[in-house]
Amino acid sequence: MGSRFDLTVVAENPEKGNAYLDLAISEISRIEKLISSWDPKSQTSAINNNAGLKPVKVDEELFQLIERALKISKLTQGAFDISYASMDRIWKFDGSVTQMPPAETIKQSVSKVGYQNILLDHENQTVFLRNKGMKIGFGAIGKGYAADKAKQLLMQHGVESGIINASGDLNAWGSQPDGKDWMVAIINPLNKNKVFSWLPIKDQAVVTSGNYEKYIILDGERYTHIIDPRTGYPSKGILSATVFTKNAELADALATSIFVMGVETGLDFVNQLKGVECIIVDEDNKVVTSKNIALKEVETQSR
Ligand code: ADP
Ligand code: MG
Repeated sequence: MGSRFDLTVVAENPEKGNAYLDLAISEISRIEKLISSWDPKSQTSAINNNAGLKPVKVDEELFQLIERALKISKLTQGAFDISYASMDRIWKFDGSVTQMPPAETIKQSVSKVGYQNILLDHENQTVFLRNKGMKIGFGAIGKGYAADKAKQLLMQHGVESGIINASGDLNAWGSQPDGKDWMVAIINPLNKNKVFSWLPIKDQAVVTSGNYEKYIILDGERYTHIIDPRTGYPSKGILSATVFTKNAELADALATSIFVMGVETGLDFVNQLKGVECIIVDEDNKVVTSKNIALKEVETQSR
């Protein structure tokens, strides 16, 4: 998925441990083949290639993932939108963009964005992108989904404890071999060697979206990889958003959504959701948290 995965399992011996790791890796690769929009042979590419042309029959798994993504779009009033992907023809984070894209180009491209035009047909299990030039991508939910599925598979095989960490999108279960909780560090977005706080996690997912991993600098300003689907421009105002909830897929999608919503709306939104908490670092590097998170040690520790 173009990103690093760190896998941790607790097992009786190294042989078993390695076998579990292999199992998790094959599950993650399987999911990548299904959802990658870079792989021309994936079902996702088939959907994109047929935008404006015809519905495409897909596996139930992909159909349901898209269905859940659309639910999150509704819940976030479009802040989260897998059809943001037509914008990735303009906002490229590979060093090729060195000038501000023309406003007209952005306007044209953002007109292709709109989850309402992703049409699902349950009976035939097909997905249709209504307009030519539309495109979907799972950059903001896929890693979380893969982490959930890998965890689920390992649990089914009797693994009692582990962590699936997809570049900071993680899902942990059980506890450390000595019985202590797994701990997760919230880092300072302006200095990745500094830890804002450590939090214990138990059977929980923790996902961070940050503006410090994938971005471009134009005229001295930083443009991050999370696009506001309403404007077609990168989101501003947040350095990082961390979401805690039961599954990494939802946490992944919500972290991205908060970025688009901004600090106040994002916080309000999370405070209305049961079982979801968040930590936001705003553009002044100030930490704000949702109702039920109490941060104790703020910026005292180095990693
Ligand atoms: P990260 O990849 O750093 O974990 P995210 O989970 O927030 O960060 O995902 C960002 C990726 O999601 C972008 O690189 C892009 O592929 C995609 N994306 C960007 N904006 C949106 C959006 N508004 N809705 C859904 N996906 C988005
Ligand atoms: Mg995300």
